[in-house]
Amino acid sequence: MTAVTNDAIRKDWDTYFMDIAYMVSTRSRCPRRHVGAVLVQGKKLLGTAYNGAPMGAHDCLEAGCMIAEEVEVKSVDGKDQVVRKQRCIRTIHAEQNLLLFTDRADREGSVVYVTDQPCWTCANMLANSGVQEIVYHRAYPKDSEKVYALMAQQGIAFRQVEHYAPPAQALMDVTQ
Ligand SMILES: [Zn+2]
Ligand SMILES: [Zn+2]
Repeated sequence: MTAVTNDAIRKDWDTYFMDIAYMVSTRSRCPRRHVGAVLVQGKKLLGTAYNGAPMGAHDCLEAGCMIAEEVEVKSVDGKDQVVRKQRCIRTIHAEQNLLLFTDRADREGSVVYVTDQPCWTCANMLANSGVQEIVYHRAYPKDSEKVYALMAQQGIAFRQVEHYAPPAQALMDVTQ
């Protein structure tokens, strides 16, 4: 058999690392959303993480999701509006696990690829982690506006990967 080197099927870096993040996400056991995140420093993979309960604790498949409702007051045209949001709080989010399992020195100036747009808490932590760029795929509209504002203010590049389709075996319907 002859080896084939074909530039047409060679993955660009965004696709390469986002595909890895999606494969990592398949380890998640929260049925609402499987999230994967990877830490990349100068094109080198330095860490992987997914959303899950702490090691040894019951996970969402064993004990069900732990749903909490958050109430947020938003000012719309000068009027306060109450917005309700449901989240599964059983899991440590992928981005938070990534921070728990990587070193600060490895994160300075690094890029994080994450399957889903970070929630407010994760974005806040990433903004204080040394990471310089965050690339995501699936949108998370609940927190998007304030997360974009934070990243702009912190000078962290924040973007959604374009023209991208996840590996078929990692596809799932997410609960918004
Ligand atoms: Zn869950
Ligand atoms: Zn999060």
